[in-house]
Amino acid sequence: MGTFLGYRCSICGSEYGPDEVTYTCSQDSGNLDVVLDIQQVRNSNSVQEIEASRESSIWRYLPLLPIPDPGYEGTTLCAVGWTPLFTPRNLQKALGLPNLWLKDDGRNPTASFKDRASAVVVARAQQIGAEVAITASTGNAGAALAGMAAAAGLPAVILAPRTAPAAKVAQLLIFGARVLLVDGSYDEAFDLSLEAAQAFGWYCRNTGYNPFTAEGKKTAAFEICEQFTDAVGARNGRSWQVPDAVFVSVGDGNIISGLHKGFKDLHDLGWIDRMPRIFGVQSTGSAAIYNAFVAGNEDIVPVRADTLADSISVNLPRDGLRALRAATQTGGAYVAVEDDEILAAMRDLARKAGVFAEPAGATAYAGLVQAQETGLIDPENRILVLNTGNGLKDVRAAMQAAGEARIIEPSLAAMRDALAEQAER
Ligand SMILES: *Cc1c(COP(=O)(O)O)cnc(C)c1O
Ligand SMILES: [Zn+2]
Repeated sequence: MGTFLGYRCSICGSEYGPDEVTYTCSQDSGNLDVVLDIQQVRNSNSVQEIEASRESSIWRYLPLLPIPDPGYEGTTLCAVGWTPLFTPRNLQKALGLPNLWLKDDGRNPTASFKDRASAVVVARAQQIGAEVAITASTGNAGAALAGMAAAAGLPAVILAPRTAPAAKVAQLLIFGARVLLVDGSYDEAFDLSLEAAQAFGWYCRNTGYNPFTAEGKKTAAFEICEQFTDAVGARNGRSWQVPDAVFVSVGDGNIISGLHKGFKDLHDLGWIDRMPRIFGVQSTGSAAIYNAFVAGNEDIVPVRADTLADSISVNLPRDGLRALRAATQTGGAYVAVEDDEILAAMRDLARKAGVFAEPAGATAYAGLVQAQETGLIDPENRILVLNTGNGLKDVRAAMQAAGEARIIEPSLAAMRDALAEQAER
């Protein structure tokens, strides 16, 4: 801390001091990038010092975050991030990609990547003395805010579409948030949450609106570089290694923007010597950013979202511009996959890598499969696929991917018959 200079608008470039603005650009409502004093971070920190940290959470990167030490050491909030990065051997073989890596962010306290953002937003809320935090959510951002806020003792209000998967709603309720299910789309819940935050004076966490979410999400890029360097066993002097390509699923576009910011921070610091290519994967049923990428312009035109991957089902991506640039500025690309490809990806990740992903989490992997088929990537590339959410959050989708279990009489004869029948199929 002490390195937070303020904000820069991603559209017009206007700059603001840390306390001059709370959410977006006052000129054009553009999303704001947090600006850090990179020089100062570089002068007072090093990759060696961070590698020596014993903090197994996002807080090991506190010197690169725009918030003071929230003093969470030893509490449950510590458990956010530092998720495993590993080589799925069987999946590598099946795909013919010998340098494939997975990072499983389903293993966060509330079982999705969103915990990274919510932990940092809650710390910011406490810093500015907010009394209540509110967010609109398809489910995971809300669960993450509810969980992080509960641990910090901050009241939370969550607006989610009434169609949110039951497990996600259960998470909201068990963490004690005030939960309101909106009879409408995520986009409508989003607009309502802005109105409510304004009317009641609450602090709004919304994705692609609050500048601190991307700061939390960028910690995944830091982990990718630090863990990847450890895994391939070669630090290059004072810098970390990067994969050649990173695949991530995209709805509002805040995760991919946060990752991009994280890699840029490290590059500006000289802690990595090149950027990875970043690949955004959308559902064909919710592909506004993909459409702009294909059209070759920066006009994000809203769609009517319809996909079983509820966490990336978005009409108007709230962080579309930065999300698009994450791919275009790194030589990456956008890929769109059908719901059937997402269900197949859920089976592959589970059956060949032991990773149970929710549909939106498996979407990144479905995108890699397609990118390999279409020659977007070199099979020798070092590729990292990020799973963003745990499959237990959406059991109905998992059953859709995996089918029903057979019921038998409790006898060996019945079991033999059933097994024989299954073997025939
Ligand atoms: C929110 C979410 C995403 C997409 O993140 P955006 O910032 O909306 O692009 C992907 N996967 C899961 C599991 C999510 O919860
Ligand atoms: Zn602006």
